[in-house]
Amino acid sequence: MSAIELKGKPLADKIKAETGALVRELLSKSIVPNLAIIDATDDPASADYARMKMRLADALGVKARLHRLTGPQLRTKDSFLQLLEELGRDPQVHAIFIERPLPKNLDTDDWISRLPAFKDVEGEHPGNLGYLVQSRLRPRFFCIPTTALACLEMLRYYNIDIKGKNAVIIGRSATVGKPVSWLLLEADATVTICHSKTENLSSHTQNADIIITAAGKRGLITADMVSSRCTVIDVGLTYEADGSVHGDVDYENVRRKVRALTPARGGIGPVTTALLLRNAVLAAQNSEG
Ligand code: NAD
Repeated sequence: MSAIELKGKPLADKIKAETGALVRELLSKSIVPNLAIIDATDDPASADYARMKMRLADALGVKARLHRLTGPQLRTKDSFLQLLEELGRDPQVHAIFIERPLPKNLDTDDWISRLPAFKDVEGEHPGNLGYLVQSRLRPRFFCIPTTALACLEMLRYYNIDIKGKNAVIIGRSATVGKPVSWLLLEADATVTICHSKTENLSSHTQNADIIITAAGKRGLITADMVSSRCTVIDVGLTYEADGSVHGDVDYENVRRKVRALTPARGGIGPVTTALLLRNAVLAAQNSEG
């Protein structure tokens, strides 16, 4: 038996259509959603992702500008922080996105707090993460980390039961593992968070109804680690020297055993990008108030 494929495109198309309608509503009030993308990575894959976001922004009627910090002169910590502060102060700019991975000299703890939380469309600002954890304090608008939200929306779109189910999250980063754990906990799953120091990973995954894997380790999840009732969402990406990209799941073997899983390509990625644009448009809508 082969698993149900949880393709990202239908959900991404739905989010884009809803976002396009929201853009038209804002344009009728003379508000043009405006997204700034910063690419300081010097990484061809990130440059491709930035262009993809620019194209999607254009298709949706969102004004997007790419700020490239290239070469050692431009890519200094001072110029990076100055750009963040300028964009943060600029009332025309509603949303700011920063391509990853940042070079080491820029990837320090303090840069994120230079962004106003309401422009942080990746939802990484301590304010946004705080609201995610502390649901009672939530304001009308805040951003949820897009990859984590994409996992939850994917489960909901394909009617995968979450309430009361055993969800195993692999990875504990502040951008994916932790926020997706909080979202699933709030959706009434029983959540186990595994990471690089977890002993006997398969003892957790074998008992899972849902696995969300975000380790970035090619082939980490093999068929003997999953049960036939399991739904697997593969977030991890490993870039090989030959240009190929791989998930955490041994796709060919795992798909023969589980109930549902994201495809090797075209799973969470397109949903994440669509949600990023939706966050940018919601940030513009929020600027009205
Ligand atoms: P990260 O490196 O910050 O975190 C990786 C996590 O995996 C860590 O918490 C680590 O403890 C855990 N881990 C590593 N090896 C493990 C192992 N052998 N067993 C169990 N846990 C292990 O990365 P991140 O920013 O959280 O991203 C995770 C992955 O998701 C990366 O591959 C990244 O490229 C990918 N990603 C994909 C999308 C998308 O849209 N598809 C978006 C964001 C991130």
